[in-house]
Amino acid sequence: MGHDVLVENHTTRPHHVAVVGSGPSGFYAAAALLDAGTDGGLDVRVDMFDRLATPWGLVRLGVAPDHPKIKSVSAQYDKTARREEFRFFGHVHLGDDEELRSTGEGGGVITRDELLERYDAIVYAVGSQTERRLGIPGEDLPGSIASVDFVGWYNGHPDHAALDPRLDSERAVVIGAGNVALDVARMLLLPEADLRTTDTADHALHAFVASGVRETLICGRRSVREAAFTTTELRELDDIADLTVVVDPEQAPPGIADDDTLTKGARRNLELFSGWAQRGPDPDAKHRMEFRFLRSPVEIRGDGRVEEIVLGINRLETGEDGRTRAVDTGERETVTTGLVLRAVGYRGVALPGLPFDDDSGTVPHTEGRVEGHDREYVVGWIKRGPTGIIGTNKKDANETVRHLLADLAERAPIERADDHHEAVEAWLRERCPDLVDQEGWEAIDAHERGRGEPDGRPRVKVVDRDHFIELSRPR
Ligand code: NAP
Repeated sequence: MGHDVLVENHTTRPHHVAVVGSGPSGFYAAAALLDAGTDGGLDVRVDMFDRLATPWGLVRLGVAPDHPKIKSVSAQYDKTARREEFRFFGHVHLGDDEELRSTGEGGGVITRDELLERYDAIVYAVGSQTERRLGIPGEDLPGSIASVDFVGWYNGHPDHAALDPRLDSERAVVIGAGNVALDVARMLLLPEADLRTTDTADHALHAFVASGVRETLICGRRSVREAAFTTTELRELDDIADLTVVVDPEQAPPGIADDDTLTKGARRNLELFSGWAQRGPDPDAKHRMEFRFLRSPVEIRGDGRVEEIVLGINRLETGEDGRTRAVDTGERETVTTGLVLRAVGYRGVALPGLPFDDDSGTVPHTEGRVEGHDREYVVGWIKRGPTGIIGTNKKDANETVRHLLADLAERAPIERADDHHEAVEAWLRERCPDLVDQEGWEAIDAHERGRGEPDGRPRVKVVDRDHFIELSRPR
């Protein structure tokens, strides 16, 4: 990639690139930048920042713990991280001037201007860090939880470790028909033996083992045909012990998959749903996962905590753009539950000093170049919204990096002192006393893996900030 671009760039001066965010898109961008260095003879140095002590973003803190194969992609990120021209700086928060002032000498906060002073380019790989809202009464009642919080809780995200969801209700209702909805519904029903070999955070593992939840009801606002689940994720439900999958035969009748206009994936999904519908519920199964389509949440009710949810029954209408919309029929259905999990998609958060499109929750850009801002770039979900699988981020990051390298080649190099690379690190260490570097992360990683080994778990996660700091300090 980018050879023509690189040949034009005669300078051998190092190019310093900051990557903000250490999830998949950040790592794919870092790898593409470093490869350009190796392949094109360009001296590219990448410093990757994360506000947490740990890298890998959603791979560590979003992917469901019972999907270790998906998580194993982190081995690729490790390889990138071990390259000489790469540095990791955890516990560094990119904030605005106000945040900087409020933390005294700056404890852990750096600003965009400070990065622009020190780097030739900045790549933002910050993902979509918050939830899409339903905008219905009762949404914030205790017991109504956004998937971003629940997923963070079971994965040991330090921001969500204290969530403490009450799992004493026999039925949980999950809103949304995407893979995140499926993840949270499945995690609630996994047999103890399966859970115990995962890296589910210990606080969540104990809560799941003691949980009273026996049934998850997944509600999609459109029909089974429009559901966003992927086939692999649906298929694995049949391999889970003690679980029966329940689908109303009217919503997935025989032959529903016989439609030439369907994609292969959609056809397979419909075959699965109609298979479950024909099979009917297994009355002996300990756990039940029910799918109900054409249902939108209208109100969540309860006295001090969730007691029931009112669902509106929809019909479908196809708009002029060809997209199928759910339209409220006015009919209502009330479901008793103490736990509502809202899994209707993630949303990006605005970055200090950068433009932001509030509708899509993304930073406006042209093929990764931030609109109106030289030297600043976006990759991943903050670039294209919360869609696609992990691998999607590779192509996406390559596109951005191609433009970044072309821009570097055209721009006059910024004059830097010979010890610039070292000076940046010295500044960071002074500014961020809790800084966790690559070596520090490797110590944390080794500790976590070591603790998991005796029980056949990939790792036992650390969630406490002070513990991260203690483990990361050189001994
Ligand atoms: P998603 O795939 O976009 O699904 C969101 C779901 O929420 C859709 O069914 C959507 O319905 C529904 N929804 C949106 N607004 C709603 C509202 N107001 N009321 C009711 N329903 C509403 O998003 P996601 O599940 O958060 O997943 C994000 C991305 O990560 C996806 O690309 C997903 O495939 C990926 N992911 C992959 C895996 C895996 O590979 N194992 C696991 C987790 C996530 P409409 O379609 O009607 O809008």
